[in-house]
Order: sequence, then structure tokens, then C-alpha cells
Amino acid sequence: MKPSKPILITIDGPAGAGKTTVSRALAEAVGYRYVDTGALYRAVALAAEREGVGSEEDAGLERVCNGLDLAFERTETGTRLFLNGEDVTGLIRTPEISMMASAVSARPVVRRFLLSVQKELGRSREAVFEGRDMGTVIFPNAEVKFFLDATPRVRAQRRYREIASSASVTLDEVEQDIIQRDKNDSTRAIAPLKPAQDAVSIDPTGMSGDEVVGKMLAHIAEVTSR
Ligand code: C5P
Repeated sequence: MKPSKPILITIDGPAGAGKTTVSRALAEAVGYRYVDTGALYRAVALAAEREGVGSEEDAGLERVCNGLDLAFERTETGTRLFLNGEDVTGLIRTPEISMMASAVSARPVVRRFLLSVQKELGRSREAVFEGRDMGTVIFPNAEVKFFLDATPRVRAQRRYREIASSASVTLDEVEQDIIQRDKNDSTRAIAPLKPAQDAVSIDPTGMSGDEVVGKMLAHIAEVTSR
């Protein structure tokens, strides 16, 4: 059911905390758009890689960003991301692009570019934004903010289950990847990963997706009834 007034909902947290499943289900439950902002960083990483631009080449990254047109489209197979008209949804989920996305996301030129893209996407409110700095930097005035977190091992197990059938990696490798990305994301100088002061923190360990969403819906009902 739609909240009684149009609001913005943000869901932040580290890799593998289950944000995507929960954000999608929550958006569905309240009839809002779901915006996966990690996909935007991944698309920038893909474009940079294709053009042979390294993750520390700021001038090159700026040029790449300036040539990008990023658009989400809702289709029958879910929300797809288009990069200059090309559907890149399936191309941005590789471990290489994950690492490159984490690296380019530390560059101010990239964050500046995506700040305006994200603000534009949130202009009409009525959306669930999933990311790392949604509640702290992009939408500090969002009415409802959540922060999902769990231990690196629990998060690695979740990721491992998701990718096990398609990749030849071990659980330990996935965990190392997660620890490395956590480190990149939480120690970078700009927009480091941390909960907003007014975010509701949830550790979904041992909870079903429905239970997490139920908890979120209860909080949304409380906030919008004030
Ligand atoms: O969420 P996902 O794993 O797809 O994000 C890929 C990378 O993009 C993350 O490791 C993080 O470095 C970066 N990111 C970010 N800010 C966001 C969303 C993602 O820095 N709002």
C-alpha cells in the first residue's frame, strides 16, 4: 500500500547485506520505483573499461562520464539499465566490474557526475533508492532511511549462494572480495559508507526477506502517520 504522503526511502549498507532483494520487495510493497544506484557506478566502470581508462585517471573518467547517457527502464523482465541506448544490465555483474566500480566510486569526478543523475531520478520522490550514501549525501532529507548490515562472513555466504552456479570462486575468495570492497568503500575520502544519523539499522541475519520488509513497513507507517 502506498504511504499516505509521497516520500523518499533510502537503503544503504555494504556489499552482500541483502539490500537488493529487500529494496525490490519494499518498492513493490509500497508501489514505488526501485533505483539501484550501484548499477550506475557499475555502468561508469564498464564504460571506462571499454575505453581503456584506468580507475585513477580523473581526466579520462570525466570524459567518459560526459559521454554517458544512463537510463533505467521498467520492462517485463524487471528494471533494466541502458548505457547510451545499450542494455548493459547483464554485463555489469562480473567480479571485475564489481572491483572497478568500487575503485571508480572513490573518484570525486564520478561521484559528482552521478550525484546529479541520482538527484534527478529522485525529483518526483515515491522511490526506494539503494546504495551506499543515499541517506547521508544524496538524499539527506529523505523521510525514511534504513541501513542494512551483517558480518562479512554472512554477507559472503549470501553472495556465494547467488553466484555459485556461474563462477569458479570459493567462499573464502568471495569473503576476501567483500572485505576489500568494504575497506575501499568505508575509507574513501568522499561519501564513505556509514549509516546516516537518522537511519534505522537492521541486521537481517536469521530473518526472512518478508520479516525485514515487514519491519520496514511498520517504520514507514509510523513515520508517515506523524
Ligand atoms: O551495490 P553494488 O555492489 O552494485 O555497488 C558497486 C560499487 O559501487 C560498490 O562497491 C560501491 O563502491 C559503489 N557504490 C557507491 N555508492 C553507491 C552505490 C554503489 O559508492 N550509492
